[in-house]
Amino acid sequence: MKVDYIIVGLGLAGLAFSRELEKENKSFIVFENKSQHSSKVAGGMYNPIILKRFTPVWDAENQLKIAIPFYKNMELLLGNKYDYKVDVYRLFTSIEEQNNWFAACDNPTLSSYMVPKVITDKFNGIDALFGYGKVTHTGRIDTNKLIEDYHFYLEKSNKILYQDFEYNRIDFNENKIQYKNIETSKIVFCEGFGIKKNPFFKELPMQEAKGELITIHAPELDIDFVLKSSVFIMPLGNQLFKVGATFNWKDKTSIPSKEGKEELLTKLKSILNVPFEVVEHVAGIRPTVKDRRPLVGLHKEYKNIALLNGLGTRGVMIAPTVAKELYNHIENDMLLRNEISIKRFENN
Ligand SMILES: Cc1cc2nc3c(=O)[nH]c(=O)nc-3n(C[C@H](O)[C@H](O)[C@H](O)COP(=O)(O)OP(=O)(O)OC[C@H]3O[C@@H](n4cnc5c(N)ncnc54)[C@H](O)[C@@H]3O)c2cc1C
Repeated sequence: MKVDYIIVGLGLAGLAFSRELEKENKSFIVFENKSQHSSKVAGGMYNPIILKRFTPVWDAENQLKIAIPFYKNMELLLGNKYDYKVDVYRLFTSIEEQNNWFAACDNPTLSSYMVPKVITDKFNGIDALFGYGKVTHTGRIDTNKLIEDYHFYLEKSNKILYQDFEYNRIDFNENKIQYKNIETSKIVFCEGFGIKKNPFFKELPMQEAKGELITIHAPELDIDFVLKSSVFIMPLGNQLFKVGATFNWKDKTSIPSKEGKEELLTKLKSILNVPFEVVEHVAGIRPTVKDRRPLVGLHKEYKNIALLNGLGTRGVMIAPTVAKELYNHIENDMLLRNEISIKRFENN
């Protein structure tokens, strides 16, 4: 078999890069070994504001301009709904937080997303002594359904192999690569935390963080927005809500833990005053980088292998933008921004 590209890993990074290839009529085959689950378990939120400190998310405006049409296009391609527009309400815990909110509303980068008032409406299930601040232009991508549907779409055209990619089977051959019976020009690695097994890129400074989420059934909870407090509570419909997420920098497994669940339940009980039942509990490893920026670029020695990783806590917003930048870098010689390029770590 002869293809232009091999892609290793089909989470949000692999999906976004393969769409670039499809658009440009490049041939490719994807390898997926189902070892990582970050994209499938993700909350799927996109939100241009860091709600702890009311500061802008890095590059958010630029990323949203590319991400929103990208997911619209996925909906058209696959005939399903993935993008659910939903506001985010930040629960205030003090007058000081309210004041900080108004101060942030004056920031020109944030003002188009933040509503400059305190929402005092009552919602069954939540005590909000100090009210809420509302963020708009936010939403949730159903990443699990999107990735599942895209797998099926690639299966139909025989573009995905459910196999472990074996790094030691790569033969570099002048401008070509031979991998088992496949001849290709380029390999793009999109393995998320799986990068730790990749001999070409494993030294890059990841600071991965395990995250856990639960889904609850709470028939009396009356919110149609994402509530952000010590955890987020996200409506899914049918009285179901996703609640998350934990951060654990020590545990490197994707196994849901008793401690993770306890942490979420403790926080949740301090917010909700209605009964609920846990119906699902999932976990994954976020491929976070030390400086909280993506890892994009070609290998310094082997110029026909590339990396698309480091999407961290915001893969939904970042993936479409950086996939495009990597494609243009490889095919059109366009420079990568220094802040996303893996070159920033090459001299360290
Ligand atoms: C609990 C939790 C909540 C989150 N919530 C949000 C959120 O609300 N919004 C947001 O934007 N982001 C969120 N994230 C972060 C988001 O999930 C990540 O940024 C994103 O999914 C990373 O995508 P990826 O494709 O780089 O990695 P992954 O999703 O890990 O995909 C990598 C893929 O490569 C495959 N693979 C690895 N090694 C090999 C190999 N050798 N051979 C073949 N296949 C291989 C894996 O099986 C996997 O499918 C959350 C993450 C977690 C864990």
